[in-house]
Amino acid sequence: MRIDVVSIFPEYLAALDLSLIGKARQQGLLELTVTDLREFTGDRHRTVDDTPYGGGAGMVMKPEPWALALAAALRAGHGGADPAAPAPVGSAPVGTAGGGRPVLVVPSPAGEVFTQATARELALREHLVFACGRYEGIDERVVDWAGEHFEVRPTSLGDYVLNGGEVAVLAMVEAIGRLVPGVVGNPESLVEESHSDGLLEYPVYTKPAVWRERPVPEVLLSGHHGRISRWRRDRQLQRTAARRPDLVAALDPAVLDRSDRAVLAEEGWVVAGEHVVRADPSGHDAPGAPVA
Ligand code: SAM
Repeated sequence: MRIDVVSIFPEYLAALDLSLIGKARQQGLLELTVTDLREFTGDRHRTVDDTPYGGGAGMVMKPEPWALALAAALRAGHGGADPAAPAPVGSAPVGTAGGGRPVLVVPSPAGEVFTQATARELALREHLVFACGRYEGIDERVVDWAGEHFEVRPTSLGDYVLNGGEVAVLAMVEAIGRLVPGVVGNPESLVEESHSDGLLEYPVYTKPAVWRERPVPEVLLSGHHGRISRWRRDRQLQRTAARRPDLVAALDPAVLDRSDRAVLAEEGWVVAGEHVVRADPSGHDAPGAPVA
């Protein structure tokens, strides 16, 4: 997989040299390049922002440096051989050498929320380009223009506002990169994680068996795989019900066995037709209906 990140603070992305992602880069599993947007400015001050049309606070990122930087990222995805300069409006979309359109991820609090499903989907793509906005964001025409060359994905890390896209890109690249085959040494560890099956992960423990008078749950010392696996599943269901009721409401009843349903019932959830709903809807968000 090839990843290009464009930012006015390329040093911010230095963390991508570390740990599993850094190792994956060294091993050639991830080809990751960070580019300074200011390399694509034409003036002495290397200006990347200007005042907003229509007035208002803050500055907006100018479109031309972005178009040049993104065109360079496209060329890089073509091995540098095919200069895919900004194409005229209406021209044929440009794909990557390996097939499929490159994906342009535009971090934005106004984007679709990034989830494990997004990470799984993007981990299958060959070329991802991340455009780190700053100030009030990037001139919207860049998104329109980029749509002729990329699949454009405005993507939010969550419902809060950061100062820039770099932190969001660090999180997204890590979540995507660890799903690329070979990046995580033991692929088994990806299977039982939070969000892999719509539930949060069970609690985990290591040695010593008793720490500061707190023993590890006895079942985990039993060596009985069936009991351990049931105990873990129960904890997943309880923890998800307590912390993320939205995930419980999104469960497909077809994946719930009798024991699962019994645990959920204790937590106040029942299966009604094709939905998992609150047993007592009176005190909750959507009386009589599945909680969205
Ligand atoms: N004025 C913008 C708005 O209200 O939608 C916020 C701009 S924010 C100060 C500057 C940049 O930070 C954005 O362009 C984006 O790149 C990044 N950013 C801020 N919050 C984010 C979030 N929740 N997810 C992803 N990127 C975010």
